[in-house]
Amino acid sequence: MFEKLTRAVDWVLSRIFSNKFKCVCCGKDVFSDSEEYCTKCSMSITRTKDKRTCIKCHRPIYGEGDYCMICTDYTHEFDVAYSVYTYSGTISKMIRNMKYSNKMYLAPYFAKHLIDKYADMPTCDIVVSVPPSMDRARYRYHDHTKLLARAFSEGSGVEYIEGLLKRLKDTEPLEKKSPKQRREHLKGAFAISDRRAIKGKRVLLIDDVFTTGATADECASVIKKMGALEVYILTIAVTEYKVKTI
Ligand SMILES: [Zn+2]
Ligand SMILES: [Zn+2]
Repeated sequence: MFEKLTRAVDWVLSRIFSNKFKCVCCGKDVFSDSEEYCTKCSMSITRTKDKRTCIKCHRPIYGEGDYCMICTDYTHEFDVAYSVYTYSGTISKMIRNMKYSNKMYLAPYFAKHLIDKYADMPTCDIVVSVPPSMDRARYRYHDHTKLLARAFSEGSGVEYIEGLLKRLKDTEPLEKKSPKQRREHLKGAFAISDRRAIKGKRVLLIDDVFTTGATADECASVIKKMGALEVYILTIAVTEYKVKTI
């Protein structure tokens, strides 16, 4: 009885004296559970749904036309790519924390937002995750895209087949390569472990960031060769195309 009372008092005191609502990014107190971010962190978050975006990759576009500069120049192997945010400010910091600082709780958090985005997308039969490069995975404690896809599957009900997409060769970091060099470099980097699981399916490919689409294209090409009907891409964030100013 006494123990129960002590616990009740502790609970009441904790409600009064501590604010349990914290900013997801920096941990600063926020005023209610409906606010995920503090004012400072929320100022540098851009959601793709608030922008005019490319009809193929959903990258924000600022000029005329329906396509971004990359989709104007390249024919993609995937059908359509979707992202929740642009890769900048608070979101880029959180993605780096998830990948390199072992903040695993961010994977189910982001998966919740991927599920919200999926509501606007064509229905898919299975979820596949893009395996991170072997070199990087060695320095990490976990495969964050696997955690993302697993949490996405649990919340959305779309079946996730772990290990279906395999990485056959290690790849160098793509950051400094041009879109064309990225495509060349990724050729033959991926394979499917079970053709029967893919044939005749609409596949949803989950990754963290969409940059030029070279990785998504190489994976989609392998998946389609195995008989998939369509391949859609879903990532947390898409990079903005930097237009050089004079
Ligand atoms: Zn914050
Ligand atoms: Zn595009």
